[in-house]
Amino acid sequence: MSNFVDVAGIFGENVFNDRVMQEKLPKKVYKELHKTIDDGKELDAITAEVVAAAMKEWAIEKGATHYTHWFQPLTGFTAEKHDAFITAPDADGSMQLEFSGKELVKGEPDASSFPSGGLRATFEARGYTAWDCTSPAFVRQNETGAILYIPTAFCSYTGEALDQKTPLLRSMEAIQTQTLRLLRLLGNTTSKKVRPSVGAEQEYFIVDRQKYLKRKDLIFTGRTLFGAMPPKGQELDDHYFGVIRPRIAAFMDDVNKELWKLGVSAKTQHNEVAPAQHELAPIYAECNVAVDHNQIIMETLKNVAESHGLQCLLHEKPFAGVNGSGKHNNWSLTTDDGMNLLDPGKTPHENIQFLMILTCILRAVDRHADLLRESASDVGNDHRLGANEAPPAIISVFLGDQLQDVLSQLISTGEATHSLKGGTLHTGVRTLPDFAKDATDRNRTSPFAFTGNKFEFRMVGSRDSVAECNVVINTIVAEAFSDACDVLEKAEDVQMAVHDLIKEYASEHQRIVFNGNGYSDAWVAEAERRGLSNITSMVDAIPALVTEKSVALFEKFGVFTRTELESRVEIQYEAYAKALNIEARAMIDIASKSVVPAVLRFNRSLSDTVNSMKTAGVDIEVPLEMLRESCSLLAEAKQALKKLEKSADEAAVMEAGREQAVFYHDVVSADMEALRAPVDALEMIVDKEEWPMPSYGDLLFEV
Ligand code: ADP
Ligand code: MG
Repeated sequence: MSNFVDVAGIFGENVFNDRVMQEKLPKKVYKELHKTIDDGKELDAITAEVVAAAMKEWAIEKGATHYTHWFQPLTGFTAEKHDAFITAPDADGSMQLEFSGKELVKGEPDASSFPSGGLRATFEARGYTAWDCTSPAFVRQNETGAILYIPTAFCSYTGEALDQKTPLLRSMEAIQTQTLRLLRLLGNTTSKKVRPSVGAEQEYFIVDRQKYLKRKDLIFTGRTLFGAMPPKGQELDDHYFGVIRPRIAAFMDDVNKELWKLGVSAKTQHNEVAPAQHELAPIYAECNVAVDHNQIIMETLKNVAESHGLQCLLHEKPFAGVNGSGKHNNWSLTTDDGMNLLDPGKTPHENIQFLMILTCILRAVDRHADLLRESASDVGNDHRLGANEAPPAIISVFLGDQLQDVLSQLISTGEATHSLKGGTLHTGVRTLPDFAKDATDRNRTSPFAFTGNKFEFRMVGSRDSVAECNVVINTIVAEAFSDACDVLEKAEDVQMAVHDLIKEYASEHQRIVFNGNGYSDAWVAEAERRGLSNITSMVDAIPALVTEKSVALFEKFGVFTRTELESRVEIQYEAYAKALNIEARAMIDIASKSVVPAVLRFNRSLSDTVNSMKTAGVDIEVPLEMLRESCSLLAEAKQALKKLEKSADEAAVMEAGREQAVFYHDVVSADMEALRAPVDALEMIVDKEEWPMPSYGDLLFEV
């Protein structure tokens, strides 16, 4: 069979993983390195030197000519700069390839070109990338060569975080410390490490690249700024889990192979709800690695798509009126001795440790719902959260029947005596087996849902990094654990105190639990009654980062300083303004240079028709009516265009910051909508041959 793929054989073949390290490193060095990876012991220069040499040799065998410190600045993308392994030639002109311990451990990109939110002036250019040995290095190969990628954290000269990874690693330390503290109080004497486990399910669209290249809006902004709805949308639900077409299957096949080679355990793939929409889910991994893997997944989807003549769209809402794309962040806590702390077991009512952890999480989410909401906000996600589609912008937690019942027992009687059982599912067909049902059904409308042995945070946008939400989840849960420990450490009878605390938290934070339909209007009203906030835009979500409550939280656990938080706020407002500026400019450009001329051409041919029909003495009412309609829509479009030009100009000269972002949100985006409406109406009447770009139908159904 020519198509045979040796999955086990290729898995991780381009990763400098533990197996390779055991093979390539002297035992002593391997052990030393592990002390750094596992316990955070400082890496000594000699160990670094030996590891670097082994890594270089291994990478060169894989065809690598260069290495790069790979990092995640606050641009929303990853960054890399390639350095060849070469040194100055010897006197005889020959070349020794080199890669030192120093080069492995520290890099120095020019930090002034990355967003720093005022953390540093542009003339202070120093920034450092530091090797993150907890995420394995890998080699990426393509047609033109291969590069060794070294995952790194990125900090300023003065040590402030300029990236996603630094706070993530800090938050992982915080939650480990606080979880172990809590576990000890609950009688656990064996676990030594606790890591968040994360599995990020990725949604995306695939369109034909030739068609994509004819859409300036997709090229410049990642989403369509114009486009009338096709005759058919997603109303038949015939795409979801549908048969994967051969062209897409071939693409997915290559994506999987590429990911497996890079040690990413791509597991599940299926068609999503919208036409041309798909999903990829890897098996969960340690938080930090999962965040890196998600970046690798996004980059691989894009690269492989191009090589198949396709284009991957990661924007949260590439097509108005069609379901957008998100990312589900599955999160749990795993100990080094193999426990999932979010596993309730068969009888959750007896599982005191689980109930303590669960109610702490409820407390964390209730106290810091605004931060969670903020962590999922990005420019594209504004078109989903609280706008045209689910998930809702209100943070709530879904627990399901079984856990809800246990908590209700606790709250009403102070005692939980039983757990609901799943029972048996009878299919009514004799040839099908009956099977045991889960004790709890699913709920697809909840933003923070308990799904058996993990929480699934469903608000994140498809293009966004999952780092931010995990920084928040790790830190707020660390705080809740820490607060619980503060109480328990003072208690005379810890058992009793745990029991009381579970009851107290369950009662106090009941309001955050919602098991109903999160998409309904009734929930919006109910949430308001409960005092839960409903933040519908990114500009309104951003301030949550710098409330006194948030600053105290992040500073207490050493995740962010106030200055770092303030800088992130600035960066976010600026990112929002820049994105909207590009969208507005792209709209103006497309409308003036492509749409208006096309409509004029169409109108001229219509009026030619009218004239010749008139000469022939035929009734001209129909073409005349069409011409009138087209002219009036064109006039409307021209007027809207003028208005948009004015507001976009006004916005562009405003000082960067909240006011500017709010202006883009309130004024410029409304003007964009006003321009879109007549143009989309024109698309429905202008000759398809004349229309300057492929339609929604062409893009969504002709892949
Ligand atoms: P579900 O059907 O509940 O969504 P899946 O098995 O399809 O669960 O998994 C969805 C994602 O959640 C996958 O990426 C999976 O690896 C991840 N996942 C499963 N268990 C855990 C866990 N304990 N912690 C974190 N992520 C998990
Ligand atoms: Mg899921």
